[in-house]
Amino acid sequence: MARQPVVQAATQLVQDEDRDLRPQWLSEMVGQRDVYARIQIAIEAAAKRGEPLGHILFDGPPGLGKTTFALCIPRELGVPLQIANGATLKAPKDIVPYLTNAAERSVLFIDEIHRMHKSVEEFLYPAMEDFRIDLTLGEGINARTINMPLKPFTLIGATTRTGLLSAPLRDRFQMREHLDFYTLEELAEIVRRNAVKLRVVVEEDAAVEIASRSRGTPRVANNRLRWVRDYATTKANGRVTLSVARDALEMQGIDSLGLDPQDRKYLETIARVFGGGPVGVEAVAHTINVPPDTLIDEVEPFLLRSELLIRTPRGRRLTAAGFQHLGLSMPSQPHGMLF
Ligand code: ADP
Repeated sequence: MARQPVVQAATQLVQDEDRDLRPQWLSEMVGQRDVYARIQIAIEAAAKRGEPLGHILFDGPPGLGKTTFALCIPRELGVPLQIANGATLKAPKDIVPYLTNAAERSVLFIDEIHRMHKSVEEFLYPAMEDFRIDLTLGEGINARTINMPLKPFTLIGATTRTGLLSAPLRDRFQMREHLDFYTLEELAEIVRRNAVKLRVVVEEDAAVEIASRSRGTPRVANNRLRWVRDYATTKANGRVTLSVARDALEMQGIDSLGLDPQDRKYLETIARVFGGGPVGVEAVAHTINVPPDTLIDEVEPFLLRSELLIRTPRGRRLTAAGFQHLGLSMPSQPHGMLF
């Protein structure tokens, strides 16, 4: 009990730091130019017509900017924002207050929208399409349904897994935007800008080094930068040179590709325990004691995109590049081909 406030304070600090580094306006966002251009057009058109912006769904791996887009859009439009999380929307009654509170043209952002209960998804269809909801009052034979109009609003959804959304829900979003991993140059630019915000001197080659070990993801780049800054503060008079950046990242077990110990443990388990695969993700998850969802959402996307791992109908398989990265030789007869 006595430790509770400390934990809360620490969480608060992390959130505040995240806010410090989060771009506040679309124009401050680095990369994702195509998405940015389409969103700009939609915003301008909605403003010119005086209508609410169409509903938007963002999907892509964690830390790529879905929330940042969702928070910038209402600011650009000058409209109120409400934030909900799909995991807490277990029944239609959980979402009713958000819908009835939504001001005209305001934005309702639902993060992790794939975690909403199916009944909430269905309840949302008429809200999204016709700005009305059907409320059931009373129970049994006295139950009656009333039709309640809503103010026209914009729903913005974010998900790491579009595949888990029902097709009717997906189809009700006028815009569906997929966020992809960032290039090295974009990440280096994010590191440079955030070094200024964090008031730390990062030499140019060190900024590129941090970017190149950030798994293509701004959130990871920010975390790496914060750690390198702490390391430089205590060990190197606050200045981040290339060797300071390398030493700091190596101390955290971040390798040349930016993989962390958990990423490598996942690959190593497939290589050593399952002979390189194919193997179901659940089997690996049980072996290394990590929830399958964490592997699917957070660990695998970058490994797949780096072609260290592939997904086959029979499970995950390590590629030759995967074995090479671990310093292992590839078995001559891939496991599973024997049967
Ligand atoms: P997601 O919602 O996709 O998990 P976020 O939008 O929360 O990701 O992004 C995580 C962090 O990464 C943000 O706090 C922000 O600091 C940084 N970030 C994300 N996208 C960008 C971008 N395009 N330019 C600069 N920083 C970004």
